[in-house]
Amino acid sequence: MEQRKDWQQLSQRARLHGDCYIDGRFRPAESGERFPSINPATEQCLVEVASGDRADIDRAVQSALAAYQAGSWSEAAPAQRKQVMLRLADLVEQHGNELALLDSLDMGKSIHEMVNVDLAEAIDCLRWTAECVDKVYGEIAPTGKETLGLISHEPVGVVGAITPWNFPLLMAVWKLAPALIAGNSLVLKPSEKSSLSILRLAELATEAGLPDGVFNVVTGYGHTAGKALAMHHDVSVLAFTGSTRVGGMLMEYAGQSNMKRAWIEAGGKSPMVVFDDCQDIKSAAETAAAAIFSNQGEVCIACSRLYLQNGIKARFLDALVEATATYQVGDPLDPDTRMGPLVDKAQLDTVSRYIQSAIDEGGRVLCGGLPEYVEGKGFYARPTIIVDAHNEMTFVREEIFGPVLAVSGFEQEEEAIRLANDTPYGLAASIWTDNLSRAHRVSRKIKSGMVWVNGWGEGDCTMPFGGVKASGNGRDKSLHSLDKYTDIKSVWISL
Ligand code: NAD
Repeated sequence: MEQRKDWQQLSQRARLHGDCYIDGRFRPAESGERFPSINPATEQCLVEVASGDRADIDRAVQSALAAYQAGSWSEAAPAQRKQVMLRLADLVEQHGNELALLDSLDMGKSIHEMVNVDLAEAIDCLRWTAECVDKVYGEIAPTGKETLGLISHEPVGVVGAITPWNFPLLMAVWKLAPALIAGNSLVLKPSEKSSLSILRLAELATEAGLPDGVFNVVTGYGHTAGKALAMHHDVSVLAFTGSTRVGGMLMEYAGQSNMKRAWIEAGGKSPMVVFDDCQDIKSAAETAAAAIFSNQGEVCIACSRLYLQNGIKARFLDALVEATATYQVGDPLDPDTRMGPLVDKAQLDTVSRYIQSAIDEGGRVLCGGLPEYVEGKGFYARPTIIVDAHNEMTFVREEIFGPVLAVSGFEQEEEAIRLANDTPYGLAASIWTDNLSRAHRVSRKIKSGMVWVNGWGEGDCTMPFGGVKASGNGRDKSLHSLDKYTDIKSVWISL
């Protein structure tokens, strides 16, 4: 693994493209407008990024549509598309350090996490999804002998993807891998806070052999470029990862335009419940810390609510504070750093507001506390644990998206289930128990898309990822992800 000085040297030489990528080449926004991409660790501008708008979205969608209709990708044999996507996975691996560095510089993620989690998972997702495509069969319906009923999956046409800043490369790959392998063309709008890695990925896709126009990236703001993409009449499917508020807006845009399908992966306020029959308190406490402090707490599945059965509460909190101490805050390019800065000043202010509200509403700070911001030195927060929390407190109800953990106690299993489900969100949950029956019983009763028993965050491409309730409706990863980007065609043949 490279050392801090190696990453710093690499960052001096990094190629930073800030233009849109349309029809196989970089282009500035038609308006000529740009905005700065800020490194949250230094508050310095990395590069000026093109502020794409409706005209750029339209150009990208027309390019995507023309490529789709030309058929060189959409009608290519699945095995042929597979080869291109496998080449792309190889290129991502070869350029891994470069891509890791771009996200780390752009949004503050520690380089350790970027290399070991985001990059590794992005490569795995590209390979796994590519390998699926020539193993998926259609169906023959059990019709009568007078007819033959064929059920097949067809690409939808142009997919519009809108992605967040917390896992810039990985969230984009979770969308683009199934969308492209299914034969669609794609227009992707990354978050305005983290555009750089995906622009480089688009360039690598061309190098891998993807025809021009099949994969386009329009950088820009949500209310301009994002809205124009969501409202576009030639976009057939919208794939979104981001906040619940914006996800709801996209569902409206879909209805107001052409009834495009809108797949929404949104926010979370996930619970971790630890029962007092849990023997391995050390592992549970280390996982509880990882579940809220990795990626600075800017994780959709973060377990930001911790419910401890009263019998083990004191012992567990001791272990949790010890585990939290390993979350060293610092320069994201230092491989020893476990928590980089938050993405921007607005996010730091949000975190500060929630910590203050927790204190005002009766919470007690066990460790961490209000950030001590020094202008020009980066947007750093501290891993913060607040005890004496209860479900009526604002910081327990709302998604903070930062390193702030709310801890409450409970007596009975039923009470724990009620507290865990008492949220508008339903993305994930983690349960810790050594009682097998309880593990099954409780995971059935938790209303969320994903439940981990005696773990958190594990997962490869074999399992779907997504939520229910205000956490959205779509599933990334697994064979189910292909369903999002295909239409079912029924063909009746009279015999
Ligand atoms: P966000 O909703 O602010 O932005 C997400 C994307 O939507 C960005 O590209 C943004 O430019 C765009 N956007 C904003 N306004 C828009 C509009 N009016 N029309 C169209 N597009 C618009 O979210 P964020 O702050 O980038 O990301 C954090 C959120 O993402 C958190 O809520 C987190 O829980 C969620 N998230 C969910 C998952 C999941 O799989 N469920 C994964 C990662 C992040």
